[in-house]
Amino acid sequence: MERLQNFVDGAWRPSSANEALNVINPASAAVIAEVPLSPATDVNAAVEIAERAFIEWRRTPVVDRIQPLFRLKTLLEQHRDELALSITNECGKTLTESKAEILRAVENVETACAMPILIQGTNCEDIAKGIDEHMIRQPLGVAAAIVPFNFPGMIAFWFFPYAVAAGNCFLLKPSERVPVTSQKIFNLIQAAGFPPGVMQLVNGGRDTVNAILDHPGIKAVSFVGSTATARYIYSRAAANGKRAQCQGGAKNPVVVMPDADMEMTTRILADSAFGCAGQRCLAASVAITVGDARTFTDQIAEAAKNRKTGYGAAPGVEMGPVISAESKARIEGLIAKGEQAGARVLVDGRGRKVEGYEEGYFVLPTVLDDVPPDAETARTEIFGPVLSLIHAQTIEEAIALVNGRSYGNMACIFTTDGANARRFRYEVQAGNVGINVGVAAPMSTFPFSGWGDSFFGDLHAQAHHAVEFFTQTKVVVERWPKEWSRKF
Ligand code: NAD
Repeated sequence: MERLQNFVDGAWRPSSANEALNVINPASAAVIAEVPLSPATDVNAAVEIAERAFIEWRRTPVVDRIQPLFRLKTLLEQHRDELALSITNECGKTLTESKAEILRAVENVETACAMPILIQGTNCEDIAKGIDEHMIRQPLGVAAAIVPFNFPGMIAFWFFPYAVAAGNCFLLKPSERVPVTSQKIFNLIQAAGFPPGVMQLVNGGRDTVNAILDHPGIKAVSFVGSTATARYIYSRAAANGKRAQCQGGAKNPVVVMPDADMEMTTRILADSAFGCAGQRCLAASVAITVGDARTFTDQIAEAAKNRKTGYGAAPGVEMGPVISAESKARIEGLIAKGEQAGARVLVDGRGRKVEGYEEGYFVLPTVLDDVPPDAETARTEIFGPVLSLIHAQTIEEAIALVNGRSYGNMACIFTTDGANARRFRYEVQAGNVGINVGVAAPMSTFPFSGWGDSFFGDLHAQAHHAVEFFTQTKVVVERWPKEWSRKF
């Protein structure tokens, strides 16, 4: 069994870990690799090398710093199929979904290549008599990202292209459940020709993360994962004086108005709720129908029944397994809790096997009707292919339900009425809003994050927010007395 390595100082090196975990293909339950749980000494060594590399890297002109990113873009495109298969094999999603991940990764590399423009400061000549003032952006030093299992080929790209293009060095700690794709990406990073020490990869789990959070050489931490971990990482990083941006979990409501195009709404919401087996932070999780839109119930139930589930790389498969046996048990437990709270299980995905993949962690699409809004199933993140239906009479009632939850990652409305759409957009408490869109994922040229319990921090991922996060501003106030006294 291949034991994965860390990438430090421009080369692959074995971790000094005594402990390791198996990496499992969730469709077959087969072990595909072994991931070391790197101790603090590995993190410390990687940070020391990154700090040394930073001295030269920050002096490298920004137009030169983006050249490895241009090469990385081409390499990602050339290796897209291989990366997608790796994502499918360790994470479970379909090949189409895996390829879409790489597309968004490439987009972020492209956007970061605009760094010679994005990093520009501002200035004001003669802010006072004979005095000029400039604001310039400088890199922080070494930045780190700790990422989750559900997008092994994309989430690190929300951060590192911006960080390194802005002159920082970077350390990535992938999810220990899906570390294989990161190895492949770092092979491409190596081929792209970043100087040694600029990009580092350290595999591991909680102790590795704590070593990152406590290391004084790491100036900024980007995190994506569950809310409990996001909150913990935000407070520990901040207590240690670091910048932190921590994206957490979600419970995304969608409102279906009676005037919505039901055929389109059903198709889009089936993809949103059941795509990636519901393991998306932007998955629709609760659908609130308004008035006569209740007819949506039968249509979404039919779509759920017809969705083909199986190994993500098999032809025709529309939905893969969930990540682990524990996750399957938790999802099935939350369906049962919904039932106990009074919901009707219209389509039941529990206890089902997929032929040829009997050991896989499959939960089939599930639809729960009349879920009490206060039931745990309607309020807790399930992170599985489960859609809860709640029926409201008015848009006011629907918006109150949307705003009555602690998460604020995404909220969507399906309607053909512009006034309803505008009101929804204006009033809902969410960082991402979809109008007749089921997964409102911002393109890489816009910032991405949620509100409420879905985000801890200030600056979001991607685009100009990432540039601000990975740079500190310096204001220079200057006076040149000889020049000042000169008369024109
Ligand atoms: P997770 O919180 O279990 O793990 C994320 C990372 O944190 C991993 O690298 C893991 O090693 C580390 N970690 C976990 N527990 C830790 C602890 N106690 N101390 C230190 N480090 C710890 O999340 P996950 O299960 O991998 O991912 C799914 C979650 O991520 C869902 O809640 C989903 O909504 C969320 N997510 C959010 C977004 C977003 O943009 N808001 C995007 C993708 C996923």
